[in-house]
Amino acid sequence: MRILVVEDEAALSRQLASALADAGYAVDCATDGERADELVEIEQYDAIILDLGLPKIDGLTLLRRWREAGMSSPVLILTARASWHEKVQGIDVGADDYVAKPFRMEEVLARLRALIRRASGQLNPELRCGPLVLDARLSKVTVDGNSVRLTSHEFRVLSYLMHHRGRVVSQAELTEHIYAQDFNRDSNTVEVFIARLRRKVGAGIIETVRGLGYRIAS
Ligand code: CA
Repeated sequence: MRILVVEDEAALSRQLASALADAGYAVDCATDGERADELVEIEQYDAIILDLGLPKIDGLTLLRRWREAGMSSPVLILTARASWHEKVQGIDVGADDYVAKPFRMEEVLARLRALIRRASGQLNPELRCGPLVLDARLSKVTVDGNSVRLTSHEFRVLSYLMHHRGRVVSQAELTEHIYAQDFNRDSNTVEVFIARLRRKVGAGIIETVRGLGYRIAS
């Protein structure tokens, strides 16, 4: 799962990026509206955290523009605490949820998980496939109740496939959703992650659909 953080306060942006990385997400950061707009144009995000007060292009303008262009990723806006009209305007132009500043990081993470879950049509925070359970709240994976240690990239691959259970996901799509922008991508490594995941969670969980990609049964 890959997240874009659009926030111009450097300290806050760093805090968000590090909390999200710790929770297992690939994270890109934009510190002004123009950069955010460029990134949304070329990259695929599973969710976007958007501050409204931004240099160059403000958050409301960006969000309106993205929604008009058909961008469907869930967007969590960061609003000023006392500003009820920011929340209303934000939701009216296409935000899915908001968090008022100052906030607890736990709240941002919880709202984000819920948005990602809903966007992929999952209702339960525990994603299951046979003996395999992925708990996005704890970034934890178990098989038959025994916890499995995964690297951050393995976790992202598994999490993306679990959130899109029943659908074939191509290698290119997986690559888009597991690496941050500054990361040197190599789609061959997806095969390596899949092979390691099969060793760790059981060979039968991730199916290869020849020529198309991978699928976890729903
Ligand atoms: Ca700001």
